[in-house]
Amino acid sequence: MTGNGFAPSAERISSRARVHSNVRLSDNPLFVAMKIHEYQAKELFAKAGVPIPRGIVIRTPEEAAAAYEKLGTKVCVVKSQIHAGGRGKGRFKEHPEQAGVVLVKSAEEAVANAKRMLGSTLVTIQTGDEGKQVNTVYVEQGLDIKKELYLAIVVDREVGLPTIIASAEGGMAIEELAHEHPEKIIKEPFDPGIGLQPYQVRKLSRALGLDATAQKSAGVFLPKICDFFVKSDSSMTEINPLVVTGEGQLLALDAKVTFDDNALFRHKDFLELRDLAEEDPAEIQAANTGLSYVKLDGNIGCLVNGAGLAMSTMDLIKLHGGEPANFLDVGGGANVEQVTEAFRIILADKNVKAILVNIFGGIMKCDTIVTALLTAYDNIGITVPLVVRLEGTNVELAREMLKNSGKQITTGMDLTDAAQKVVATLGA
Ligand code: ADP
Ligand code: MG
Repeated sequence: MTGNGFAPSAERISSRARVHSNVRLSDNPLFVAMKIHEYQAKELFAKAGVPIPRGIVIRTPEEAAAAYEKLGTKVCVVKSQIHAGGRGKGRFKEHPEQAGVVLVKSAEEAVANAKRMLGSTLVTIQTGDEGKQVNTVYVEQGLDIKKELYLAIVVDREVGLPTIIASAEGGMAIEELAHEHPEKIIKEPFDPGIGLQPYQVRKLSRALGLDATAQKSAGVFLPKICDFFVKSDSSMTEINPLVVTGEGQLLALDAKVTFDDNALFRHKDFLELRDLAEEDPAEIQAANTGLSYVKLDGNIGCLVNGAGLAMSTMDLIKLHGGEPANFLDVGGGANVEQVTEAFRIILADKNVKAILVNIFGGIMKCDTIVTALLTAYDNIGITVPLVVRLEGTNVELAREMLKNSGKQITTGMDLTDAAQKVVATLGA
């Protein structure tokens, strides 16, 4: 196996991708992205005329034998399907020797590998320690790889255009490369209305060191993948590696695709590609209650009404030395049901050591919100320090209610005060 199969998110090397110091573009509820599996992305590539290797999806180990025979190449590749990269280097909890992507040379080998993968938990550099359970395996023809390139398309918010990010050194840790040799990363923005132009294909081919045959193949591959990105409203399309075969053909060997949630109404057919088993249960539950929730790594839970307010709350927590445990927007309503559910979700995260509630009572008056808050407090039984900052209509009355509630609730007079107080509860 050439390359280390490590596929970090392209967003992280796109300079404007960081909307918040702690939140990657793909994690940001304001730019939510729906992820799909490699095999699903490749099916969509094929429909869009983007060349891919032949492959067969299997869900039981026995099917691996038939898939191997049908593909008909001596070498086949057995690939675990999870919503995370780095599978080639990843290992299974149940089988420490087993990698997530394996080259096999017989039907028996294909079956044995699929057997160890299916139902087991794959841990890669992108899954976190808990790993992800493999429920689907993709068996692919083994390719004669001459060169592994890196290719991704994201929206570059600085130039306001979809942009190709490419490198002649694919298949490896692209973030490291971007860091140590930024000159080896090529960026080429293109006009979504007219697509990638022939002069841009020539420019990219030169930069990627493609020979005449490969350049011809790039003349088909690159405009088609750009077209796919635009037409599918993808927020990231990453192919690592994009390979040049012995015959000089470009093929997408790996495929990581996310879609812009805000455009999904235009692509009803994509909804059936969603794999709920891959999504965070708390995030699904939150979405069902009309809350926007994204889990983060810190220990201060945040309950806020309004996405912008939630972002600034997270910023202030960080400014005063804390780490937010989540982004949570209860929306404009903030009624008893939503606030209760929000507390439940926040407290289900064992990392949470304190909670900051930051609510602006505009349409919904502050005293109404405090009523919801106190009811939720009783329903849930809050066990960590709680700091509440309220602003808006009837705020004095609301603060009075909090004070008289007899509960262990600290009031913040403004956002800075509240952020400092919640950070202080964690002790120095
Ligand atoms: P990941 O990025 O999750 O590790 P990839 O699909 O990129 O998974 O596969 C890892 C590596 O396995 C690739 O960099 C490539 O070297 C090898 N590989 C994957 N698919 C094939 C294939 N069809 N033929 C030959 N080698 C492959
Ligand atoms: Mg890869």
